[in-house]
Amino acid sequence: MIVECVKNVIIILKNVSVMYKWKVCPIQGRQLKDVRKEDLFGDFRICDTYRGGGGYDQFPKITAKRLGVSQFKGDPGKQFVVQLYGCHLNCSYCYVTADGIRGEFKNYTTLELTDWFYRSYVEHNCGVFHLMGGSPALYIDHWHEILHNLPNKFIFHSDFLLTEKLYPNLSKLKRPNALYAVNIKGVTDEDYYRNTANKIDWETFWANLDKLVFNGPEFYITFTNPDLKNLDRFKQKLINRYSEEVLKDSFVIDLIKYEALKNDKDFRKQR
Ligand code: SF4
Repeated sequence: MIVECVKNVIIILKNVSVMYKWKVCPIQGRQLKDVRKEDLFGDFRICDTYRGGGGYDQFPKITAKRLGVSQFKGDPGKQFVVQLYGCHLNCSYCYVTADGIRGEFKNYTTLELTDWFYRSYVEHNCGVFHLMGGSPALYIDHWHEILHNLPNKFIFHSDFLLTEKLYPNLSKLKRPNALYAVNIKGVTDEDYYRNTANKIDWETFWANLDKLVFNGPEFYITFTNPDLKNLDRFKQKLINRYSEEVLKDSFVIDLIKYEALKNDKDFRKQR
């Protein structure tokens, strides 16, 4: 009897977790200027990592180094991209645009997302489930639900900006098929503000990075449009706090001139 009750409670808890509703922004508005029609996939999109540019073409190589290759299915250079609603930043170079971050959204359960991913594997040979933003870590308390539903033979990838909020314990996100990008958007107060139009909260930044380094999952660091005069000093700070390891596979993301941002009155000129 007791065993039966415990089983039922477990089933109910599992159902509650898969019933969580993700706010998904379909590709819309100005974003459509940069996304090829053939890459649209329902409310999602397929991304050929090698076409994307900006440095992300290194992703398959980094994945192979960090996670291995032979155990995975699908193409590690082909991503199924889920774009989540909301972002706490306002970067002038944001090709997702306000349309994609704060436009119309639809609700999807975790099971619906992983089912759509599987379809992308069958139809397009996608090997990577990419949870993108906005700021995907605004949903970090639910990332493990996707990992739980995604078979280990596929790669999970998402991004940390370190400033969304104080992260929970990250041990649930440490998986043999999960690799994360830590995106640093400024190496000084001024640099962060220039890129994001927001003040940086260094306390949250370092607390989150500590969690990633000391008990977290596999990650690599990217620097978006950093102040190159201060980049080396900042890297040294990272080395002093952690070790050289923390910069393994890191790279600078170059800005791309997206069509969505050309002749756009809303586009803030870079300061
Ligand atoms: S963090 Fe990313 S999604 Fe948010 S505004 Fe900046 S570039 Fe756009």
